[in-house]
Amino acid sequence: MPYQPNEARYDKMIYNRCGNSGLKLPAISLGLWHNFGDDTPHARKVEMCTTAFDLGITHFDLANNYGPPPGSAEKAFGRILKEEFNGLRDELIISSKAGYLMWPGPYGEWGSRKYVISSCEQSLKRMGIDYVDIFYSHRFDPNTPLEETMIALDQLVRSGKALYVGISSYNSQRTRETYEILKSLGTPFIIHQPSYSMLNRWVETDGLLDTLEETGVGSIVFSPLAQGMLTNKYLKDIPEDSRASQGKSLLDGFLSDENLSRIRSLNEIAAKRNQTLAQMAIAWTLRKDRVTSALIGASKAQQIIDCVGALDNLEFSNTELQEIDKYAQD
Ligand code: NDP
Repeated sequence: MPYQPNEARYDKMIYNRCGNSGLKLPAISLGLWHNFGDDTPHARKVEMCTTAFDLGITHFDLANNYGPPPGSAEKAFGRILKEEFNGLRDELIISSKAGYLMWPGPYGEWGSRKYVISSCEQSLKRMGIDYVDIFYSHRFDPNTPLEETMIALDQLVRSGKALYVGISSYNSQRTRETYEILKSLGTPFIIHQPSYSMLNRWVETDGLLDTLEETGVGSIVFSPLAQGMLTNKYLKDIPEDSRASQGKSLLDGFLSDENLSRIRSLNEIAAKRNQTLAQMAIAWTLRKDRVTSALIGASKAQQIIDCVGALDNLEFSNTELQEIDKYAQD
C-alpha cells in the first residue's frame, strides 16, 4: 500500500519563523545522522520519516557524511523521497551540509570553494533532487578565508542548488563575520545549527544566542537530548539497543555518575510536569522563543511520537527553571 500522509498532519505542530526570514520551521525537526545508514533496515527508516511527517515534522536534516558509510543516509532519504514522499517535495524542507571528511585527498573536507560546491552536487545526486532548501557550512575552516567559503554558499543559491544557507557550530564572533560577508553578498543566510541541551549550554555563555537574536538569524539546535542522555533510557542501566551500547559517538564521560545523578534529578522534575524527560529537554531548548527548532534524532518511530508530545507543555515557571538550573550544567 503506498504511503498516504495523515490529513491532520498540520493540526498540532507549531511552526516558528526562522529568524527574520520568510521560512517557517517545525518546532521539532528530524535529523538523519544516526540510524539512516546501511546498518539499519530500510523499513525502519521509512517508518521514522513517515511517522515524523504525519506529526507535522516537515524538516529533515542531512549532511554529506551521514551513514555509515558516508553518503548512505542521503541515498536512503532519496529513496524515501521517491517511494513514499513522491509528490510532497514542496511540503518538505531538506537540508544538507559540507565540512567533514567525505572523500580522500585535499578537496574532500573543510571549506574551500572546490569542496563545498562539488559536495553539494554529490548530495543532490544521492538524494535525487534538484535543490536543497538549506545548505550549510558544517564547520568553520581555520585555513580557508571565510569569504571563500561564503562565496561558495552564495554560488549555490545563485545557481539554484540551495534556497537558503546556514552555518553550523561557528562561534559567536565568526557568526558575526559570516553575517557581514553574506549580507554584503545579498545571500539568504537564515539559520545557525549549534549543539544545545540541558547538559551543553555553550551557546548561552559564548553569546551565540544573543548574536543570532541581534542579527535576525534563526537557530536549529542539534542533540537537544544530549544524544539520548536526556531521556529515561539510561536511568537504570545501558540498554542493548542504545547508542551508548553500540559504541556510537556518545562523548566520553557522558555517562559519568555525576551526569547520571543530574539526569535522575531532571527526570523527577519532568515527572512533576507530567512529561517524559525527553519531552522536558526539548521544551526547555524551545523556551523563551530563542530557538526556532529542536533537531532530534531517533532510532525508532515511537521515540519521535514521544518527542512531539513535548509540544503539549512548553511553558516553564520561574521556579521550575531555577530548579532545572541546579542540574542543567555542562
Ligand atoms: P538527540 O540528542 O535528539 O539524540 C537522539 C537519540 O536520543 C536517539 O538516537 C535515541 O537514542 C534517543 N532518543 C530520542 N528520542 C527518545 C525518546 N523519546 N526516548 C528515549 N530515547 C530517545 O540528537 P542527535 O545527537 O541524534 O542529533 C540530532 C540531529 O542533529 C542529527 O541527526 C543531525 O541531523 C544533527 N546533528 C548535527 C551536528 C552538526 O555538527 N551540525 C552534529 C550532531 C547532530 P538511541 O539511538 O540510543 O535509541
